[in-house]
Formats: sequence, C-alpha cells, structure tokens
Amino acid sequence: MPTTTPFQALTFDLDDTLWDNHGVMVETETGHYAWLDEALEAWQRNRGQPPARRFAERFPLEAFLDQRRELAAAYPLRRGDFTWLREQALQRLLVAYGLDSDAARSWAAAAMERFMVLRHQVTPHSEVESLLSTLGQHYRLASITNGNVDIHRLPLGRHFPVAIAAGELLAPKPDARPFLAALARLGTTPARTLHVGDSWREDVEPAHRLGMQVAWISPHIDDMPLPAGIHRLNHVRELPELLRLVGGEQG
Ligand SMILES: [Mg+2]
Repeated sequence: MPTTTPFQALTFDLDDTLWDNHGVMVETETGHYAWLDEALEAWQRNRGQPPARRFAERFPLEAFLDQRRELAAAYPLRRGDFTWLREQALQRLLVAYGLDSDAARSWAAAAMERFMVLRHQVTPHSEVESLLSTLGQHYRLASITNGNVDIHRLPLGRHFPVAIAAGELLAPKPDARPFLAALARLGTTPARTLHVGDSWREDVEPAHRLGMQVAWISPHIDDMPLPAGIHRLNHVRELPELLRLVGGEQG
C-alpha cells in the first residue's frame, strides 16, 4: 500500500493563484505610464519648456513594450527581472525623448514608484486570508513569484516567512533555483513540500521535476489524466480538501 509523506511545507505562486492578476496589470501598465506622461508635461511647462510633442505621443505604450523586449533579448540574464527591465526601458525612452541622463534616471525611478504602488493594488481571493492563517499553523509557507509583487508590502505577507522573487534572483521559474532556494530556507525537502500554482510551465513542471507534489490551479481545463503527484484544483480555496486527501499527517 502506498504511504503518504506528511507535508512539512507549502510553496505558493502569487499572481493568478492567490488573486486574479489581469485587471491589476492592465491598470498598472496604463496608469503609471499616463502618470509619467502627465507629470513630465507639467514639469516641462513649469520650466518654460512646454513640449512640442508629449512623451506618450512620441513613445506610445507599444514602444515601451518593444523597448523592454529589446532589453530582455540583449540582457538574457535579466529577462525575468521585470522591475529592472521596466526602469531601464523607461530611462532609454526618456533619453531618446531628449532628457539628460540624470533627469531620465529620476523620472524613470519616479514612474517605477508609481508602478509599484499600482502593482500592489491586488485583491486576494476572499478565502485566502483565513486559508493561509490556518495553513500557517500546520505548515511552513513560502511564496515564489516571477512577478514584481513584494508580498511583504501586502497584509498577506505576514503568513510568508520565506518569499522568493525569482526574477530578481535572475532565475525565473521554470528555473529550479527559486524552488531550491525556498526549500533550503524552509529547511525541508521536495518530497515533503507541495507547490501551489497556476502555470503548467512555470509552476507544475519544474516543481514536479524536483519531486514536489503540485496543486495546479486550473479552472479552465476539464479533467484530464495527470501524472502522479499533480493535482488539479479549480480554485485555491480547494487546497485544504486536497491536503486532507494527499497530505498524510500534518508535520
Ligand atoms: Mg501565476
């Protein structure tokens, strides 16, 4: 008869696992860029140099995206460090717009501050607070994200003694290193850890390859045969039930 290994730890992806990310990303992307365009124009006017063409006219959002893609291709190690890519891309566009390098650097930094404020306006699913509060009594918890939400800027952060920003480690998922870093800091092993995430490529495959069990949050896929150790959930709220089924004793 197969024995179940009691889990010691749970690792969580953040975006689209603990909250829906799409709306926040759209608001963040358009919001900080519009803020930069307006604030820059006001600054130019105050200096008696009203622009003939505003920044966002000269470089619409698509140009910003193209600049990030170019930078990611030119600096492959930084490809997952979205905060760095964004700030560098803004600086380059601002210099191309005619700002000197000091002004470009400070405007890019100010726009990124605005970006981070908007980026953290996420609304965790209503069940998540009590879910993590309960799970945290039985398991060690870590977050592993490729995104640029700093979980410790959110109230939920108190549930995560370990938080891994994979992009800033220069090893975005599916790289194994952010998982290994989380396991090391949690003081546990893959076999005694379950990873929870929505991406097949970035969460399920790498965690499974390391020997972790995985809860795959995938509401849009009908039941299909999955390898042993991979469990599909419609929503993170179903996690306690899964742990009762596969978690063995809580350790
Ligand atoms: Mg995700």
